[in-house]
Amino acid sequence: MANINSVTGAIDSTQLGPTLTHEHLRVRSVEVATQFPHLYDRNEELQLAKEQVLAVRQAGIQTICDPSVMGQDRDVLFMKEVSECTGVTIIAATGMYTCRDLPEPLRNKSIDYIAELFIRDIEVGIQNTEIKAGFIKCATDVQGITPDVEKIIRAAARAHRRTGVPIMTHTHAASRNGLDQLDLLEDEGVTARAVVIGHSGDTHDMDYLSQLLNRHAYLGIDRFGLSVGISNQERPAMLLKLIRQGCHRQLLVSQDYCGTIDWWERGEVRSFAPDWSMTHLTRDVFPYIMEQGVAPDILSEIMVNNVREWFEHAANGNY
Ligand SMILES: [Zn+2]
Repeated sequence: MANINSVTGAIDSTQLGPTLTHEHLRVRSVEVATQFPHLYDRNEELQLAKEQVLAVRQAGIQTICDPSVMGQDRDVLFMKEVSECTGVTIIAATGMYTCRDLPEPLRNKSIDYIAELFIRDIEVGIQNTEIKAGFIKCATDVQGITPDVEKIIRAAARAHRRTGVPIMTHTHAASRNGLDQLDLLEDEGVTARAVVIGHSGDTHDMDYLSQLLNRHAYLGIDRFGLSVGISNQERPAMLLKLIRQGCHRQLLVSQDYCGTIDWWERGEVRSFAPDWSMTHLTRDVFPYIMEQGVAPDILSEIMVNNVREWFEHAANGNY
């Protein structure tokens, strides 16, 4: 058992229930939202987030991990309001989402300085609240491990080792850079069992995925509804293939859905991702997977036990 910080207080890992490990209640560009606030409507954003999360609850999901951090305008009071209104447990993250550079105020700071920021979010509270982070997020994309990305990953590792909260990454699967992330994390002494390599479902490269699995990391198969790297139509077959290979105990599935996101106009998102929602998995993908012969127990292990064990491996790292 492990204690986990949710936005409404601590829970233990047996209370997670079916969990979506990678969904965003809201993603915004903080610079644009601060300087041009007329472009945003917080009440509307809240409404849309609540609608999705309520639908998720009706589909039997009890918990959502929201990996929005610096770079995506994380707002823990927004998360708390959605959680209180819907009854779904929400777990917020600390960390940084940048694929190349740190912002100027952090560029010349040390790895330990950045780790202390993460530790404060986990132990004291986020954004001057008492709401604490439950996991750590870091990112690598097509640019690979830039000097600043390396600093963030090493800081994430040190914050994990101090606090026992798990790590989730963003990757560019086509560049196979989940392996580079594991190299850095392991160099800092992190057990791969405490790590989810995010967006691992964005590739058909089974050799890459086998290497991640053999190193005991979890694979985030977490973009159902989106065509990135592989088409959304191919994703259920991809999940099926991994399950049939016997590695379902190392999979975490989700949709990377954003209640709202300011990267595109809303109608635009619907045109290129018509199925994308927080209930695409429960409504479309799981019934399909079960029709193909996957037992409900397997899905329950993925949705409940794997998430629980990810937190527990992190908490019991024996560092
Ligand atoms: Zn995401």
